[in-house]
Amino acid sequence: MKSHIADLVTKALDQLAADNILNAGDIRPPVIERARDASHGDFATNAAMVNSKAAKMRPRDLAEKLVAALPASDAVQAVEIAGPGFINFRLAENSLHSLIPQIMRQGHSYGRSQAGAGKRVQVEFVSANPTGPLSTGHGRQGVLGDCIARLLEATGWDVTREYYFNDGGRQMRVLGDSVKSLLDRPHGLILWLTGAGISAESGIPTFRGKEGYWQVGSRNYQAEEMATWSAYQEMPDEVWAWYLYRRGVCRAADPNAAHRALVRAEKHQGDRFLLVTQNVDGLHLRAGNSLERTYQIHGNIDFMRCSRECLPAPIPLPDGIDLRWEKGRSLVGEELDRLKCPSCGALGRPHVLWFDESYDEANFRFQSSIDAARHASLIVVVGTTGATSLPMHIGTIAAQREVPMIVVNPEPNPFSELVRRAGRGAFLSGTAGEWVPELVGALRST
Ligand SMILES: [Zn+2]
Repeated sequence: MKSHIADLVTKALDQLAADNILNAGDIRPPVIERARDASHGDFATNAAMVNSKAAKMRPRDLAEKLVAALPASDAVQAVEIAGPGFINFRLAENSLHSLIPQIMRQGHSYGRSQAGAGKRVQVEFVSANPTGPLSTGHGRQGVLGDCIARLLEATGWDVTREYYFNDGGRQMRVLGDSVKSLLDRPHGLILWLTGAGISAESGIPTFRGKEGYWQVGSRNYQAEEMATWSAYQEMPDEVWAWYLYRRGVCRAADPNAAHRALVRAEKHQGDRFLLVTQNVDGLHLRAGNSLERTYQIHGNIDFMRCSRECLPAPIPLPDGIDLRWEKGRSLVGEELDRLKCPSCGALGRPHVLWFDESYDEANFRFQSSIDAARHASLIVVVGTTGATSLPMHIGTIAAQREVPMIVVNPEPNPFSELVRRAGRGAFLSGTAGEWVPELVGALRST
């Protein structure tokens, strides 16, 4: 539409040249622009003002001659002269309707152009800072940024989309400094709380969902059904077979760099070190942490207890139990004999906290874990989602006491949320293997 108006104005200027009002060689190209104020119409031009000198006329007088010379157009409803000599054009209502067949004809290519002429342009968008969580605002910026990039591409630009991942600069330095200052202060007890995330890098599955089911007869039992006292009462040998299979999977895995780092931490920190773990895979003990300073709050798959609770403490599983238990294999009579309580002869049970049981002090160090959270001067939470109650309780105590907490996890979790709200501590996004050796090394220098 703008080019149509420009065409009309050019024709009017040519007409004035033909009428010897203007000298064709002196005509200066006018500017056509959208009217800034809708009450002035749709488009305006300064054609009369830039050419009045050459015509030796007042701009308004030249404007009148230009308006008189404008060719007729169905698209233009009214033309007015305004101010010192602007010419305003008001479009006819149906002028835009004529675009509809054009839009229909051109379909997806309508509105595309080569205005950018292949020039290069870079659109940087979202570029969230890794020192903070992503928000819905980042999602909105993603949509906006991509729309801008697509519009530029449709008009002929060569677009590069950029998402800067900022891992340097001031904010990263502040994060590093704040972690360092937490590690530098003189410490009392350092409580390490670990969950499934630390064992994931050793290849230990969660035994939930598909990995956990166990077939008995024609029925598939889920982990949540097998890991119960009621299932054990109903079919103790099947529950044992399932656990011995799981134990085989755990035994086939090795402790990883994060486990080994915690062994160095215990050596260095001595009685200031305490490890509270949700994992039953036994990898902390196999790596070399001491049973004394490792509170296995959900038990350990390498241990058993008397099912009548006649023993003062869990005991290691006896030798001679197959460590490569095939999935689905049942126990033979001799194996069931080995799993009997050495004191009273009742069948033993896996030393694992089941879904229909509660934490206690004797088996799971419940009260000792709470006490440790009440006295710790630093809590490091590694690879746990906070889905179970005791770990979350420890995190809440830390937040209430304003004890600094360092949270290591690939994504934000309820613990990082506690850190964010309390404003004490730090959330380190990443895996246990990436961060734990680093943290243990930094604590060593204190
Ligand atoms: Zn017993």
